[in-house]
Amino acid sequence: MIDHNDDEHWTDDAACRGVDPELFYPIGYAAEVFKHQEAQAKAVCGGCSVRAECLDWALRAGEPDGIWGGTTPEERRYLRRRIAAA
Ligand code: SF4
Repeated sequence: MIDHNDDEHWTDDAACRGVDPELFYPIGYAAEVFKHQEAQAKAVCGGCSVRAECLDWALRAGEPDGIWGGTTPEERRYLRRRIAAA
């Protein structure tokens, strides 16, 4: 049973539940061939009601790979630098 006092209960409402996880892990983010995959994953995130929670979790966890909260690893590195500099 899921503990709803747990910090990660937001995953219950994730729009990516049931979506092939591979979609969120493009092999090469910079490669043009994977841009479509990245866009598809970001489109799912765009309609996700827990996007902010997901992004916050990925930033706090330092998640090094995958599309989380509608961001690529490179975009999260940029956000972490901005947060650290603030
Ligand atoms: S923001 Fe994207 S990766 Fe995060 S839970 Fe929602 S659909 Fe899944």
